[in-house]
Amino acid sequence: MSNRLMSPTRAERGPTAVIDGMAELINCTSDAAGLGGDVSIGVASPGPLNPRTGTVLCTPNLPGWRHIPLVDHLQERTRRTVYLANDGNCGALGEVRFGSAKGVQDLIYLALGTGVGGGIVSGGVLINGVRGLGAEVGHVGVSMNGPRCTCGSVGCLEAFVGGWAIQCEAEAVATTADGKLMRDLAKDGPIHAGIVARAADAGDSAATLILDRAGHALGAAMGAFINIFNPRMIVIGGGVAAIGEHLVGPARQVLPMYCFVDMRAVLTIAYSSLGNDTGLFGAAALALAAIER
Ligand SMILES: [Zn+2]
Repeated sequence: MSNRLMSPTRAERGPTAVIDGMAELINCTSDAAGLGGDVSIGVASPGPLNPRTGTVLCTPNLPGWRHIPLVDHLQERTRRTVYLANDGNCGALGEVRFGSAKGVQDLIYLALGTGVGGGIVSGGVLINGVRGLGAEVGHVGVSMNGPRCTCGSVGCLEAFVGGWAIQCEAEAVATTADGKLMRDLAKDGPIHAGIVARAADAGDSAATLILDRAGHALGAAMGAFINIFNPRMIVIGGGVAAIGEHLVGPARQVLPMYCFVDMRAVLTIAYSSLGNDTGLFGAAALALAAIER
């Protein structure tokens, strides 16, 4: 992509400084591209947030972000119309406009990263509910007796398949003899999902079991989404999706246990083709969709 500028968030400086930095990037990129004042801006932000008021409610990884009217601040600093959505919903819009699900009207997008987010497009419409807080697909319960999630609930999809959950499981296994290869690969560092994937690539049975369990949870959640939304596609993105078939293979395998066969028959499961740029393309798709309305 041309005219790309990046700068570190440096969240420790607090919301005002971060927003100043965002506005500077927008203004520099717009000037470099010679964009007119009528070009709108899309912003993909961690949530939860209210897209209708343009307010970020809280973002666990950005200190001090509580009820920040991000759209107002950015419009003031850039003199452009700004649209805001959570990064999962933007990802879904990006996949439909530019990615693996181009032109698809019924999509479940799952962003598997440290946390699990995503978005749902049904009949061509992004589903985000009364306060615009949906769809928190990572916090759908897949087990009554499952592990506690960072959101406070029990047995969420994220508590099985989020990067933090896979790491937690791997570090517990690594205290036993079965975890030797993962321990060796981590070289005293954290046994993150990438290490587990490398061990599984090497045929390590403990690592394979960890990813089987996470994949099974993923399959159960996908089954629930399929039964509710009867989607044409499920697109899987995010850093943890790079694990690939060690994770998604078990999900496909268990799917028949969790959803109706007629719904499965019309479904394609695909990986995101936008990689780390899903949020970027999604923000662009958000602004384009708003303009077209
Ligand atoms: Zn949760």
